[in-house]
Amino acid sequence: MMNSKKKVYLDYAATTPLDSGVMEAMSPYFSYLFGNPSSAHTFGQQAEAALEKSRQTVAECIRCHPEEVVFTSCGSESDNLALRGAALAAKRNRNANHILISPVEHHAVTNTARQLNELFGFEVEYLPVDGFGQVNPEDLSKQLREDTAIVSLIYANNEIGTLNHITELGAICRERNIPFHTDAVQAAAYLPIDVNVLGIDLLAIGAHKFYGPKGVGALYIRKGTPIFPTQTGGNQEFGLRAGTSNIPYIVGLAESLQLSNREHIQKPDHLIALRDRIIGSVLEEIPDTKLTGHPTERLPNHASFVFKGVDGNTLLRMLDVNGFACSSGSACKTGDPKPSDVLISLGLDHDWALGSLRVTLGKNTSINEVNSFLSVLPEIIQQVRFLS
Ligand SMILES: *Cc1c(COP(=O)(O)O)cnc(C)c1O
Repeated sequence: MMNSKKKVYLDYAATTPLDSGVMEAMSPYFSYLFGNPSSAHTFGQQAEAALEKSRQTVAECIRCHPEEVVFTSCGSESDNLALRGAALAAKRNRNANHILISPVEHHAVTNTARQLNELFGFEVEYLPVDGFGQVNPEDLSKQLREDTAIVSLIYANNEIGTLNHITELGAICRERNIPFHTDAVQAAAYLPIDVNVLGIDLLAIGAHKFYGPKGVGALYIRKGTPIFPTQTGGNQEFGLRAGTSNIPYIVGLAESLQLSNREHIQKPDHLIALRDRIIGSVLEEIPDTKLTGHPTERLPNHASFVFKGVDGNTLLRMLDVNGFACSSGSACKTGDPKPSDVLISLGLDHDWALGSLRVTLGKNTSINEVNSFLSVLPEIIQQVRFLS
């Protein structure tokens, strides 16, 4: 039988719905404005104009020059281009063979680093993180080497919400003239991104995390950063990303980034209040519970926990049956019974790390939704503990 109760979506870190205004802005580029921006005729010129206007908009949002913005097919591709492209360029140009990342990076970074190790012989080193998942700038200073090809550290963590001190970390890399990439795919939805304040050389975003369409992203590349294309072919995107530009999606990315700059970043207080209500209530009402990630230096919309002796997948299924869509970490890990590497790297025991829950809020999440979630969670946890 279908559950007739309205479902409550609390998984905005996995993806967000497309904003209707963004969809409207995209729409003409699916129909009469269908040209290829590389074509010389009027159809091409119209597409080219939309492409360059979108680039301008993104540049304004993150405070850079339009020529420093490369459009890609997603946040993962942006991470791939940053890491692989900059690492291979550093190897070719200055014989650099060392990559520094952290154990709490997204798989788009960790698995790219792993491949760079396996296929190209790079030495990949992990910086330690503390119990909140933050990298200590002093450790970066110590482990940074002359032959470091690239450093990649996540800005806002998707699983545990923690923010890294990117400005401090970036300054260390800049002083030593080592390219620094940050994955800002989660951060871009709720934090102001000013590439000069952050002091980074490369920064990845993806539109579907801020009410834009899935399947489009961008990479900021500071002028002068040595980088090779990872997708070769035509000369699109300054020769750094071949393939006919996906104009409707690029328009959607620019529109949604501008919208999130105007809306969410200006007013995180409502979300912070709801987030802290969840954190306070869960820690108080449910025994053997820990918050994962930093208590305050975290995404405004992100609450995450571990419950001792709980099977995370059973918990998610029970919540879903009761009408609540949450996650136990990264969406990619659903169905995987292994505890997440991110949680293990925080120093949590397996017994705790298997029982993780991530609750992420959206711009329209209401206090009623939060309250109804909080009213059922303790009993569901109790049931799952009984079953486990
Ligand atoms: C979602 C996400 C990605 C991947 O972005 P896609 O556009 O889905 O490829 C990368 N990094 C982080 C931190 C994310 O949250």
